[in-house]
Amino acid sequence: MEVLLIDVVDSATRSRMMSGIKSKNTLPEIRIRKALHARGFRYRIHVPNIPGKPDIVLPKYNSLIMVHGCFWHGHSCRYFKVPKSRTQFWLDKIGKNQARDQVQLSALTDTKWKVLIVWECAIREMRKEKDHDIIDQIERWILQGADAPSGDHRSPVTEISAAESPGLGVGSIRNCTVN
Ligand code: ZN
Repeated sequence: MEVLLIDVVDSATRSRMMSGIKSKNTLPEIRIRKALHARGFRYRIHVPNIPGKPDIVLPKYNSLIMVHGCFWHGHSCRYFKVPKSRTQFWLDKIGKNQARDQVQLSALTDTKWKVLIVWECAIREMRKEKDHDIIDQIERWILQGADAPSGDHRSPVTEISAAESPGLGVGSIRNCTVN
């Protein structure tokens, strides 16, 4: 019997994963950008002088969107599995990433920006016919409070992630507090 092994990631992707460099222009990011663009939103990407170098910046709406990989940011979802080898190394690394996320979010409180974290799992569960659900959620979030005075965001950080159980549809959305 012949066995064919297919590696799920190519070598460039693997070395990037291993080096831990935060990748830009990931597939989830591009899907969101394209969908927002199609709805007429204009944005800047990877703006370096804002804490966290947010992936998508909508200056007109004081809105920052960060697309988080579930592995790198240690999301409590089914896409995050602690690696079986070099476990402590990965836990340390992800712990550091999470700590940095908190620092960056804290730096954004009391600024004019509101922040939306879109978790990779929400995008991964997008189906063709359901794509609109999550983009609708994002659009509502962008528009909400658009006419409020700058800096007057009662819930500065909002998250969209996959539904808790499969089959329940795309996103769960929640507001969270920053420590
Ligand atoms: Zn996730």
